[in-house]
Parts: sequence; C-alpha cells; structure tokens
Amino acid sequence: MNKIFIDGKWGDSESGQVYLHRNPADLTRVTGTWPKSTVKDTRAAIDAAQNAFESWSRLNVFKRAEYLKKAVQIMSDRGEEIASLITLENGKILAEARGEVNAAINEAHHHIAEGLRVVGPHESRPVSQDGMLAFAIRRPLGVAGIITPWNFPFNVASRKMFPALIAGCTGVLKPAQLTPGASAALVKLFEEAGLPPGVVNFVTGSGSVAGEELVTNPAVKAISFTGSTEVGTAINAKAGATMTRTQLEMGGKNATVVLADANLEKAVEAICLVGYLCSGQLCTSTSRVIVEKKVYDQLLDLMVRRVKKMVVGVGSDPKTTMGPVCGEQQMKDILAGLEKAKREGARLASGGNRLTGNGLDKGCFIEPTVLADVRSEMFIAQEEVFGPIISVMPVNDFDEAIEVMNNVKYGLSSSIYTNDMEKALTFIEKADVGLAHVNLHTAAREPQFSLAGVKMSGFGIPESGHTGIEFFTEHKVAYIKYRL
Ligand code: NAP
Ligand code: MG
Repeated sequence: MNKIFIDGKWGDSESGQVYLHRNPADLTRVTGTWPKSTVKDTRAAIDAAQNAFESWSRLNVFKRAEYLKKAVQIMSDRGEEIASLITLENGKILAEARGEVNAAINEAHHHIAEGLRVVGPHESRPVSQDGMLAFAIRRPLGVAGIITPWNFPFNVASRKMFPALIAGCTGVLKPAQLTPGASAALVKLFEEAGLPPGVVNFVTGSGSVAGEELVTNPAVKAISFTGSTEVGTAINAKAGATMTRTQLEMGGKNATVVLADANLEKAVEAICLVGYLCSGQLCTSTSRVIVEKKVYDQLLDLMVRRVKKMVVGVGSDPKTTMGPVCGEQQMKDILAGLEKAKREGARLASGGNRLTGNGLDKGCFIEPTVLADVRSEMFIAQEEVFGPIISVMPVNDFDEAIEVMNNVKYGLSSSIYTNDMEKALTFIEKADVGLAHVNLHTAAREPQFSLAGVKMSGFGIPESGHTGIEFFTEHKVAYIKYRL
C-alpha cells in the first residue's frame, strides 16, 4: 500500500481508509491503493511544514539550491521510471510522459537559477538622499499549499514545488486523486536529495477534504492551484477569508485562427498535434479552429486525413499515437459533451465514439474527433470539454475570427496561422489571452516566461517566468543612512 509523507516519514492516514486507483487503459487493473487523508492528517502535514519553515527559510539560498540541484539530478537519472508511472496512471503515451519529465527538468533548472538571482537582498537602486543606501529583499511567505491536477501530474507539481522551495517556503502537496503516484515520485526525489524533514509533505485523497483544509487553514500562506475554473473560483473565495495568497491556473478554450493565406499543411499539423496530445487533456490544447470560409473545406479535409493516421491504444505500446482519457468519469463527460454538440447542430467530420475493439473495451478510449460547422453560441464552443475533440468554426474574415476567438469566458492561449504581418500583430494586440502564438501551436511555451492565463483561465501572480518565485515571496526594502 502507498503512503502519505509527513515530517519526513511515510505513513498511513490516521483513519486507516484507502481508495483504489485504476489504470485508465484497463479499468479492471488496480494500479495502487492510496490513503484517504483526513483533516487531521492534513493538519499534521501543515504543522510539520510550519515547524520546518524557520530553519529552511534561514538557510542560505545557495544551500537550498544545492539540495534542489541534487533532486533534479535524481529526476533526470530516474526519468524513464517516472515516465512509465505517468503513463500507467494518466494513460498518456510514453513519448508524452517522457516529454512531461523533460519539461519538469527544464522548469526546475529555470527556477533554481532564478532563485539564486532574486531570493534575499537582490536589488539596489539610486536614492534621492546623500549617504543613503536602499535595497530590496525578497523573503518567503511561509507554508505553501500545492494542489495539482491529473493531466500533468508530475510537471505541474514540480514547477510549483521548485519555486516554493528555492524561495524558502515549505510545502504540503495534495495531488489529484487520479494521479497520486507521479507526485509521490516527486516527493521521493526531494527525500533522497536530503531535504530536512517537514520541508516537503504529501497528503493524498479528496480535494474537498485535504484540499479544503489546506485552503482554509490560516497557517498556510499561499495556495498554488492548477485545475478547473470551477474549483479554482471556489478556492479563491475561501482563501480570501484568511487573506491567503492564491495562484490559480485554470481551464481554457484555446483557438487557432487559420487565415486563407496560411500554410494549411503546417497549420493542420500543429492543430492536430496539440488538439490530440495527451488525448486533448492539455490546458493549452487547441479545442477550436476558427477558419476563413475560403479555405474551410480544404482545411477540414486535411484534418480528417491527418486524424485517420492516428493509432489509439495503450500508452506503453510504441505504435500508439494517442492513449486513453484519464478515467471513467472523464470519458463519460467527454461523450456527453459530444452528444450535446451533435444535438446543437455540430457535424461529425471524423470520430465521435468510444473505442471498444481490439481489447480496448476495458479502458477509456475515445476516437480523435473533428466537429465541423460549430458556431460560437454552442456549448462545445464555449465550455472546456477536456478530451480529443476539435471544433472547426467557419468565419467570413479576420475581424470575425478575432471576435469569435475572444467570445469565451476563458483566456489561456490562442494562435494564428498567416503570413500577413499586419494581421499577425493585430491578432497579438487583440487576443484576450496569456499566450499568443503566430505560426505555432497553442501549447508552445518556455519556462523563462510566465504561464499567465487571463479572464477565467488565470488569477493571481502566475507560474513560471520571473513570477513563479514572486508568488511565493513578499518584499521588504531596507533603507540605510551610512553618513549622517
Ligand atoms: P479539478 O477537478 O479542479 O481538480 C484539481 C485539484 O483540486 C485536484 O487535486 C482536486 O482534488 C482538487 N480539489 C477539488 N476540489 C477541491 C476543493 N474543494 N478544495 C481544494 N482542492 C480541491 O481539475 P482536474 O480535473 O484535476 O484538472 C483539469 C483542469 O485543470 C482543466 O480545467 C485544465 O484546463 C486545468 N489545467 C490548467 C492548467 C493551467 O496552467 N492553466 C494546467 C493544467 C490543467 P480531487 O482529485 O479530489 O478532485
Ligand atoms: Mg476534476
């Protein structure tokens, strides 16, 4: 049986209760038994983090960096093992899981380097008085609660933990119930790197129990959450009561705009790559394609041909190009979203069904799906149906494309395919998103820059970039009169 990790010790929940985790590629296969952490367990984890905070935060940032560099080294040595675990739990294919581990390594390097640049006394500026010196000091907030989703179970937890830890915060990590093992693997890296007891703690189980305690416990000074807009909004309302700082990375309804002058082959490759990557369960997946009518039929035809080449199957099989979706509930939600889209008049150009042949009947497999003739007012064009579904929406011109693109409550990512410089730059100017791409897919990003969703996609100081550490710190300015 798997364990939770409190104050440097692996153990069971005080309740003794557990839940079973099942492989999304074969629901008859139990992949692990996990503790259902209670409020009491979570409080013990928060207390341990609180007790460890004083000495961890006082440690020189270069010393903290040494521990964390060691953890990244172990991460990289153990990459293949971690990738297999991600595939087993989440379903994504091995190549995608390896990509997730590599992304985590890059993010971790970035945060360690950034921490060495800004944590502690780090910035002096000229001041108006003679004989005076002033400098800014960045110091850690305290205990951080880290609440993560199942779609990138390793990288999301990692890219929150590294900035928190280098900043001098201690943490309690609560992963999604669907993917606790990938987070446990991360916690083991920190343990093996020798981080002192209590610096990193780990509780599994329900968000509404363990997660809720993290959000409402006044000893927790920062909540970094990635997940749905619905849960993020509720967390923010509760955290407000104790003035707890929140960082909310939430859902998206990302669009790629394709203009008539675009390189259609390249556009289709990009759209299908990130529309179906991780079975469309990427926060930055392309779920809408907004295309000028002049090239609508041609684009649809290319998309359907591209989709026919895909091989859906078990993620550990090297021939597979798309794995299952992550769990039974997820599969039901996606199929219900598809039914609703069809009822509202969307046309099925390709896919649209659960796959049960060739031994896939025990898993959560859905065909890569292309929906044509989708209109802005339809449910499928407005809500994040987190699965392998791309909605194609015809428009008359560039202006209408921008209007349709922005006509959603989300604002995570958008891209445009065109060679018209004026339109490309106007798109960047007008897109209400945190990530705007030209001739690139909607998931392109680098850890040096913030992952900053706007509207209902993001709230608070965002992850990554220079803001990743900013979130876990507060500012103090020292003024020194050295000549009276
Ligand atoms: P979710 O249902 O919102 O859950 C996210 C986490 O919150 C889980 O650990 C969950 O625990 C926990 N939780 C649930 N209720 C809670 C509560 N009342 N208090 C505290 N914590 C609670 O999201 P998901 O289904 O795991 O992930 C998919 C979503 O994540 C999508 O919307 C996707 O767009 C978004 N996402 C966004 C980004 C980004 O950077 N913007 C990146 C990746 C994913 P349980 O496991 O118990 O439910
Ligand atoms: Mg959920």
